[in-house]
Amino acid sequence: MNETLKPILTLSRVVRRYKEGDGFLEILRGADVTLWPGQAVALVAPSGAGKSTLLHIAGLLEKADGGEVEIDGHPTSTMSDAQRTALRRDRIGFVYQFHHLLPEFTALENVMTPQMIAGLSKVEAKRRAAELLDYLGLAARVTHRPSQLSGGEQQRVAIARAVANAPSLLLADEPTGNLDPETADRVFAAMMSLVRATGLAALFATHNLDLAARMDRRLTLRNGLLVELQ
Ligand code: ADP
Repeated sequence: MNETLKPILTLSRVVRRYKEGDGFLEILRGADVTLWPGQAVALVAPSGAGKSTLLHIAGLLEKADGGEVEIDGHPTSTMSDAQRTALRRDRIGFVYQFHHLLPEFTALENVMTPQMIAGLSKVEAKRRAAELLDYLGLAARVTHRPSQLSGGEQQRVAIARAVANAPSLLLADEPTGNLDPETADRVFAAMMSLVRATGLAALFATHNLDLAARMDRRLTLRNGLLVELQ
C-alpha cells in the first residue's frame, strides 16, 4: 500500500453484544479491518452473522461495546453524539437494499436534500445533483418521482444521494438484493465507477458472490471476527 495514503476506515477490536435473556449474544468479538481510499470491499457472510451490525457500527449509527472506530483518522469512541452525527453527515454515505427515497420529491430533489441540510446553497446543490444523476445515466429522469422510476433507477438515485456530500466512505447493505440480475449488474457497475472516480472507500454487504468477486477484497464474519477471503 502506498505510504502516503491514509486509511478511511479503521476498526480495531470492535465488540458488539446484544442482551439475550439473562445473558448476552456477542455478535462482534474483536473485529479488525482497515479500508483504504479507492477500495471496494465485499462483506460476504450468512444471514445473522452480523453484517448489518458491522455496517451500522462503521457508519456510526450504532455504538460498539468495545474497541475503536476511526473515520478519516478520527477516533470516534469518545465523541459526543453530536460529533458523531456531524462526522457521519460529512463523511459517510449509505445505500440500503430498499432505496428509502422521499416519495413526494423528484430524483433531483432527493439528491439535493442532503446537500442543503449540510449547508450548500440551492443552486450549488442542484448543480451537483444534476451532475451526479447525469453521471449515473439518469439525466432524462431528474424530474421523475421515485414511483415513476424502475427499481434500478431508484437505486441509482439512492446512490447519487449517498455520495451527494462527497463522503469518504460508502457503506451499502445488500444494495442490489432487491434487483433482477441484469439490473443488479448495472447498479453495481455504477457504484464501482463512482468508487474509482472519486477515490472513496466502499464496504458492500452482499450475498452475490459474482459481484463480490469483482471487488478489490472480500471479507467474511467468522465467530464475530472479520476474516479476509482470498
Ligand atoms: P446480518 O446482517 O449478517 O444478517 P445482523 O447484523 O442483522 O446480521 O444480526 C446479527 C445478529 O444479531 C442476529 O442474530 C440478530 O438477531 C442479532 N441482532 C441484531 N440487532 C439486534 C438488536 N438490536 N437486539 C438484539 N439482537 C440483535
